[in-house]
Amino acid sequence: MKRVTHLAHDLITEVLHPGDTAVDATAGNGYDTLFLANLVGNEGQVHAFDIQEAALTSTRQRLDSEACQTPVSYHLCSHALMSEKVTSASAVTFNLGYLPGTDQKVITQASSTLQALAASLEILTPGGILTCICYPGHPGGLEEAEAVLAWAEGQTQQADHFELITANEKDRLEGRPFLICLKRQKLN
Ligand code: SAH
Repeated sequence: MKRVTHLAHDLITEVLHPGDTAVDATAGNGYDTLFLANLVGNEGQVHAFDIQEAALTSTRQRLDSEACQTPVSYHLCSHALMSEKVTSASAVTFNLGYLPGTDQKVITQASSTLQALAASLEILTPGGILTCICYPGHPGGLEEAEAVLAWAEGQTQQADHFELITANEKDRLEGRPFLICLKRQKLN
């Protein structure tokens, strides 16, 4: 079974092109920011959000060490404010939970995560993709993951058409990470 992070990257690769704008809503150690930057290239743009300065520093270092030339905007604020900072994006990625290698005091919280997910859909272009990897293994993680799953299922019932793709979500009671992805329909 492929890791859910790889599955998310495969889905994003199908829709994100050079010159596009993308958002990493949880920069962490910068792996997704770098991945998005490589896809959108020097003509594109990436926005990286994190509430921890250490995460944005680590992300910046990762991109510098790869000599990445993509314009990246670093936002030291909650991803709940995303639509105030970014007007449109073809891909938005979330990797919930805590920053690996830290004391786990700072974790994503269901209420701001749900606000940020709603903001993502406001800025997502037609044909765009939202991916969210949920981590139900730490305290509070399962509740957050359930809230995200219920929210995503709700979106597919709205007038604006979204396709929901999930992977490994049945493993959540064992505490394993799973993927939720919403694809916005293209304009005809
Ligand atoms: N669990 C993943 C990594 C998640 S990193 C793994 O194991 O690979 C999650 C990041 O989200 C952390 O760097 C944390 O600081 C950040 N974060 C937490 N709350 C946030 C918020 N409201 N807005 C933006 N980033 C947030």
